[in-house]
Amino acid sequence: MAEPTFRYHPHPLASGSALRIDHVCSVCGMARQIRYQGPVYGRQPDSLCLHCIHSGAASSALSISGGSDGDSDVAAMFSDAVDVPDDVPLSVVEEITQRTPGFAGWQQEAWLYHCGDGAAFLGPAGYRELEAHPEALAMLREDHQRYGWSPTDTEQFLRGLDRTGEPTAYLFRCLHCDTNLASWDVG
Ligand SMILES: [Zn+2]
Ligand SMILES: [Zn+2]
Repeated sequence: MAEPTFRYHPHPLASGSALRIDHVCSVCGMARQIRYQGPVYGRQPDSLCLHCIHSGAASSALSISGGSDGDSDVAAMFSDAVDVPDDVPLSVVEEITQRTPGFAGWQQEAWLYHCGDGAAFLGPAGYRELEAHPEALAMLREDHQRYGWSPTDTEQFLRGLDRTGEPTAYLFRCLHCDTNLASWDVG
């Protein structure tokens, strides 16, 4: 059976949120080849397939009732709904947080939005990966400026970004205008 595709997370194997390994999914009980290995904000399954994320079965089966992240009306399952712009429909936020593979960061990660829609998550990125996307680097510089970092500190920080280490940046692409976006965290 073909693996499901996700509008907001097009390459979960490449991004590191899924692993190619034979397993039996805890939610559907089926033998599957691709296993989710991102965060679950709910009951922790032994093993979870991408089909169950895509269909919403995982979100229903694993959600802890009464849970709320306080920041929105949406019960987050695989990523949190924080800093969602007002022009993004609730249905998009639901699809991203409940039916899209999340990604593990050093802190709880926020999805990025652009042009009134969720952006597609491409994967973690270090300075080398970001250099190919000047607008994403510019976005990080603006972020730091807002937080009062000096340009020297910012450049030092950016050059220290590591795809597999800490700190890491997270690369997204707008599905409408193709702008590359980046978020970052420090552990
Ligand atoms: Zn499953
Ligand atoms: Zn855009």
